[in-house]
Amino acid sequence: MRVVFLGLPGSGKGTQAALLARAARVSHIATGDIFRANVRDQTPLGRTARAYMDRGENVPDDVTIAMVRARLQEPDAAAGFILDGFPRTLPQGQALDRMLEDLATPLEHALYLRVDIGAVVRRLSGRRVCPKDGAVYHVETQPPKTPGVCDLCGTALIQRDDDRDEVARHRIRVQWAQAEPLLPYYAGQGKLLEVDGAGEVTAVAARVSAAVSG
Ligand code: AMP
Repeated sequence: MRVVFLGLPGSGKGTQAALLARAARVSHIATGDIFRANVRDQTPLGRTARAYMDRGENVPDDVTIAMVRARLQEPDAAAGFILDGFPRTLPQGQALDRMLEDLATPLEHALYLRVDIGAVVRRLSGRRVCPKDGAVYHVETQPPKTPGVCDLCGTALIQRDDDRDEVARHRIRVQWAQAEPLLPYYAGQGKLLEVDGAGEVTAVAARVSAAVSG
């Protein structure tokens, strides 16, 4: 299975991409996670990406595309992948098509998780993550068993800087303006699947699974 997820930041695509990847037994490749790991490890890539991430803006296309190209050449990706957070711009989508053409493994579906923007801001500002293992929670919809503490490892949860209200709103506006042209791009290829992202995680997962297998 080779699928990309499209949707506003906070639309729940990270959660849904992870669930679909597990069900389909393919790798879940999240560009935000790869960038954060590079920032944490203070790699040259992380140093380049950090300033953009702190402002809630996209890392430049050339940097992001090179990173994804390298990741897709790793052996696990040959069996398929769910890409989450990439592509986020039309040039990224076009570059992805060229990469997959070179590998003779075209993309199968672009899954657009549709949610309204008010719901997105609420979701983002309630999101909490574990700084140790990356587990994601939400104060309303997916609370940890003990408030503020990771279920898996007991570490105190944090709110990512780029999930704070003001930064989140800016990020949504900037990002969607750049990502929106991907919808007609994939529709034109007959690959766009639109799924209602509102509601419970399990209900959305059922719709996602029906869409990719239908
Ligand atoms: P995310 O976890 O997907 O919200 O990504 C966190 C941050 O990483 C974003 O705000 C961007 O700064 C950067 N990033 C992740 N994916 C991309 C991408 N495809 N293109 C450009 N920047 C990205």
